[in-house]
Amino acid sequence: MKPGMEHLAGAVDCHVHACPHINARSVDVLEATRDAAAAGLRGIGLMDNFANSSGLAALARRTLGELGVDVFGGLIMEPPAGGVNADAVRIALGYGYAAQDGARFISLPTHHTRHIARQEGRTPQYVEACLEIPVCGELPDPLPEILDLVAAHDVVLNTGHISGTEAVHLVEIARARGVERILVPASHMAVGEVRAIADAGAYAELSFFFISHATQVGLTHVDAEKNMAAPVTLATMHALIHAATPERTVLSGDCGVYVLPPPVEGLREFLLMIESTGFVAEAIRTMVSNNPGHLFKVPGGEH
Ligand SMILES: [Zn+2]
Repeated sequence: MKPGMEHLAGAVDCHVHACPHINARSVDVLEATRDAAAAGLRGIGLMDNFANSSGLAALARRTLGELGVDVFGGLIMEPPAGGVNADAVRIALGYGYAAQDGARFISLPTHHTRHIARQEGRTPQYVEACLEIPVCGELPDPLPEILDLVAAHDVVLNTGHISGTEAVHLVEIARARGVERILVPASHMAVGEVRAIADAGAYAELSFFFISHATQVGLTHVDAEKNMAAPVTLATMHALIHAATPERTVLSGDCGVYVLPPPVEGLREFLLMIESTGFVAEAIRTMVSNNPGHLFKVPGGEH
């Protein structure tokens, strides 16, 4: 058995890129499901910047349900998927073959945020058209309506790729509107920001992608432009986990891009690296199984 495989038993990788993409993928949805089952994972979440992934997730569950992996999807509100739009959210929440097939997460944009668009050196007009969360006061429409839909359906709000300051404010507002399940991609955030979102009841997501060699390669994410993500050190990840506490941390792979190992292998390597910084097996289980399992309502687990 490879080192670290024991951490994969019962794990939930809520961030897998196995849907079609303009960058080649290392695996498709069915391969990712079979690989996850072979390694003992109990759930994978499909992230797609171009479309609501709930349909592919439902198809994978119907096709490979006997393998025991709960494949779930959701909507990232990027322009090709309908943008920041309450009707697109409504459709995603009901999309599938059966009543329970709908989106289990609704995410703010990943690359069409002003925060990321500026980092990517986009034109002023492009940046202007992207989403920004005001640092204080009310949210612009249609975000209040979207938060109400997320709260009513009790699914996960993923805050997308906004800045730490924006995320802290958004989490406050979302909690006040009744959103119970919040996941904040936090690999690039400051210790104080991560502490604030965890104190407010959200979970900080840390992903293998940002400490991997994928940060050294220009990749196309949503169009022909190639961009590199800023690398994060393992020491920083360790500090961010301590800031959030393992009880409020979710570890994910964010693999699927062709330059990284297949998702299960990427997650195994990530968990070994996190373990090497001093976290015991029980803390790892909390971060890669209990917490994402709870957030995304994945059956099974020890909690
Ligand atoms: Zn991703």
